[in-house]
Amino acid sequence: MSKIEIICAFCKGTGKDPFDLLSKLATCQVCSGTGKVEIIEPAIKCAFCKGTGVYPHNARVTCTVCNGKGMVTVKGTTEECLKCKGTGTETESGLPCIKCGGKGVISKK
Ligand SMILES: [Zn+2]
Ligand SMILES: [Zn+2]
Ligand SMILES: [Zn+2]
Repeated sequence: MSKIEIICAFCKGTGKDPFDLLSKLATCQVCSGTGKVEIIEPAIKCAFCKGTGVYPHNARVTCTVCNGKGMVTVKGTTEECLKCKGTGTETESGLPCIKCGGKGVISKK
């Protein structure tokens, strides 16, 4: 496990609030304005938001699965979640899959 720095998915590295929630000069709440976020490897693209860092049903909110980073840390060997078929989303409710937590994969035991 090691920490790596990635471009903030929520603001796409600009460091600015992408939706002008507070003001045009407001900093991104995910990366605190740096444009970059740290994640722990191994990490995969967040299935629930498809790596955008944005909550699918409300474009002004950060994804609750990856907290806006667009990537999520996984443990060990993973396999596709059969419940959501890797989408990370509950088909009926549209909420993050309860089995995989929205990652789309589950750790193999
Ligand atoms: Zn950001
Ligand atoms: Zn996400
Ligand atoms: Zn799932």
